[in-house]
Amino acid sequence: MQCRKCSRKAGVETDNPYCKSHFLELFESKVANAIRQFQLLDRKDRISVAASGGKDSTSLLYILQKLGYDVEALAIDEGIQGYREGTLAGLREFCTSHGIKLKIASYQEQFGFTLDELMSRSNYKIPCMPCGILRRYLLNKAARGYDKLATGHNLDDEAQSVMMNMMKSNIHLMARLGPSTGVLTDNRFTPRVKPLYFCTEKEVATYSFLQGFSIKYSECPNAPKSFRAMIRDFLNDAESKSPGTKASIVHSFLKLSPLLKQMPVESPLLYCAECGEPSSRETCNACNIARIVIFK
Ligand code: SF4
Ligand SMILES: [Zn+2]
Ligand SMILES: [Zn+2]
Repeated sequence: MQCRKCSRKAGVETDNPYCKSHFLELFESKVANAIRQFQLLDRKDRISVAASGGKDSTSLLYILQKLGYDVEALAIDEGIQGYREGTLAGLREFCTSHGIKLKIASYQEQFGFTLDELMSRSNYKIPCMPCGILRRYLLNKAARGYDKLATGHNLDDEAQSVMMNMMKSNIHLMARLGPSTGVLTDNRFTPRVKPLYFCTEKEVATYSFLQGFSIKYSECPNAPKSFRAMIRDFLNDAESKSPGTKASIVHSFLKLSPLLKQMPVESPLLYCAECGEPSSRETCNACNIARIVIFK
């Protein structure tokens, strides 16, 4: 098959046939267009990129640096034995070879326990719920002082998040989704942006592979137990039977988003009585989780 843009042979297997150089060029312009369309970044911004050593955040770091933005990498070490050490080693190598500053914040250092210890000292059955709360808390805290926190969420991730919130009737949480996230503005929240918003998982995997990033394509051993994994499999099945399903979910959400953002805020923004971080309750969820572990 021939590339859609030139006479070369199309060697890249995504939804449209392209040669390697045209695929890379189009992928990067897709990211640049999303940044422009949603005004995600400013040239003067100091950007912290939430990085895991995986394909999404590594591609994001690489492209933002290539586009001339001032980026640093921020990794969270949850303390998942046999998994996180390997991804962090790859990330360190990438950052060193590309001259990108890397900061690592850990659950152990911040909360006094690893995710593995939390699971053995609490009644949580599935780690992703507390892990997600602690990660959001720590990312927000560690990215303070930067103008933006850029995450590697892609189109598949966003379609999953929309569906997850629909299926749990979390409409207020759904209102916070989008290429730039959050409906609350407070100087203790670093604005979050998703430059890979319109890139599919398959496209990011192809980009990362063609660029030769040395990445471990393994996922967290806890991931298959999560609600997200169930929705991911469901959407992958729907996409294979009806191509375009995920993009339709995201585009429908974007049309609804202005209306969702007009909803009255469910609870006013408070500050946690224990740690002082932004919270919707007197004590934030992260402090509540930490208390369970300490008193168990
Ligand atoms: S898959 Fe679950 S446990 Fe693993 S890092 Fe993600 S949220 Fe945490
Ligand atoms: Zn071509
Ligand atoms: Zn707190």
